[in-house]
Formats: sequence, structure tokens, C-alpha cells
Amino acid sequence: MIVFKLTAEISEFLAKKKETGSTIGFVPTMGALHPGHISLINSSVAGNSLTVCSIFVNPTQFNDKKDFEHYPITLEQDIDMLEKAGCDVLFLPAVSEIYPNGTDTAKQYELGYLETILEGKYRPGHFQGVCAVVDRLLEIVQPHRLYLGQKDYQQCMVIRKMVELTGAATQIEIAPTLRADDGLALSSRNMRLNAEERALAVNIYESLCFIKREINTGNLQVLKLRAVNFLTEYGFKVDYVEIADATDLRLIDQWDGHTKLVALIAATLDQVRLIDNMLL
Ligand code: AMP
Repeated sequence: MIVFKLTAEISEFLAKKKETGSTIGFVPTMGALHPGHISLINSSVAGNSLTVCSIFVNPTQFNDKKDFEHYPITLEQDIDMLEKAGCDVLFLPAVSEIYPNGTDTAKQYELGYLETILEGKYRPGHFQGVCAVVDRLLEIVQPHRLYLGQKDYQQCMVIRKMVELTGAATQIEIAPTLRADDGLALSSRNMRLNAEERALAVNIYESLCFIKREINTGNLQVLKLRAVNFLTEYGFKVDYVEIADATDLRLIDQWDGHTKLVALIAATLDQVRLIDNMLL
């Protein structure tokens, strides 16, 4: 695996590879890699002649400074996992490579409704930061295919919208959420849970399963409230339990029995904020 730190160097390398007919798959990450990330690498390796992974803890997408400061960094182990998975190129940029004009001058993306709900509501500015970094990374890497995880359901929609707005020529591939044996969605943030919290964390997944099992046509308020109460009893601070149209994330309170739905949860255990979702 070749490691690049400079934008000019990776761009030149990849441009040459494209000229000679290579297809490029790209997996942007913030590091602290786990098998969920590696499943995206595997998809990219299977579908392209060259796989590029980036590790960049993007400061502009953290609305909470403490969350940014505590974000886990496990670079040596990440490199080892990427090499074993057959990743060809790792991009490890400094902040100045991604934001040469500083982080305050970023352009605004017209995300509309998508930015006003769920993560957009609870993490103001988060999706503008996500768009800024992914837009810039796409400009540098110019991949044929971009691999994203369903784990961040709203983020997939936001990036799709950003790609529409910018006209970037990349195809978006969404991979299913990889889970631990008990059902907890793998996440870099899980590393920050102690043993007791780790055991409790599975109740987010249990709540999603509960919703999937119990959902019926008509009013969904009581079902959502039961899930909130269940999580609160286990010590979670719940930001939201929501049910939305799976195609556009319009929040649904009254189900017609036909619309394809997704349930989404964000909740904090001690200082660690976890999100998960499930198609119903
Ligand atoms: P992150 O490093 O958290 O920014 O995640 C990088 C990419 O990996 C994003 O597209 C995530 O949606 C995806 N991802 C994170 N966790 C999982 C998981 N458990 N299964 C599949 N993909 C994941």
C-alpha cells in the first residue's frame, strides 16, 4: 500500500492510473478502523482495479469540540488492517491539505430539509462539514465509485445530494451495516465505552428490532415513545427515536402500511453518542 500525505502527489499518481485505464474505488474514513470499514474496502477491491482509503478526522464536522478531541486514533493498526484487506492507496492528509484556505471559508451546500432533521437538528453544521470534506476528497481522488455505509443513513443521503449539486462524476455504493455478534453496530466510538456501557449499548439495536417487530399501520407516536422510555430506563440520554420514509427521510407519524420506512436512533451513554438505523 502506498501512503500519500500531499494532495498534489496523490492527485498526480491517481490521474496517471486513470489514464492507463484503472478504475478507482474510494472509501473515506476518520480512522480507528473496524470490520465495518473493512467491508467497504472489500467491496471496493472487488469492484475496481485500485482502492483508495482516506483517514482524516475532519474538524469541520464536529459540532462538539470534546467529541473531536476524544476521537480515537489507531493509525498503526489501521494501516495493518488496510494492507491485509488489499487496499492500494492510503491518503493521510493534514488539515492544511484539505482546507488550504482555512476551515472558516468553506462554501455552503443547499441541503434543504435534509439538514433540518435528525442529525442535522442535533448537530448543527455537521452536514456542511461532511459535504465540505467529501467534496474536497472527491476533487482530489476523482473516484469512479464512492463507498459509504448505511450505518450513517442520513449522511448517505446528504452526500448523494451534494454529489448532485456539484455534478461530481462518481457512482455512490452503499454497504449494509456490519454488527457485532449481539447486534451492536460497529463504530469507532464503541472503543470509548467501558465494559458496562458496551453491554448496555446493544439496547439501541434491540429498540430498532422492537420497532420493526411491533410496527403497525396508523399512528406511530406510542411505538416511538415506548422505545424512548426503554432506552431511558437503561440510562441513555435519547436525542431521537424516529421513523421516516426510507427514500427521502420525511418523518412519518402516521403509517399508510405501504411507504418503505427506516427507523433511526441517536442516544448518548455517558459521554459517547451512538447512532443506528434499520430498514423496517
Ligand atoms: P467513519 O470513519 O465513521 O467516518 O466511517 C467511514 C465510513 O464507514 C462511512 O461511510 C460509514 O458509514 C462506514 N461505516 C461506519 N461503521 C460501519 C459499519 N458498522 N458497517 C458498515 N459501514 C460502516
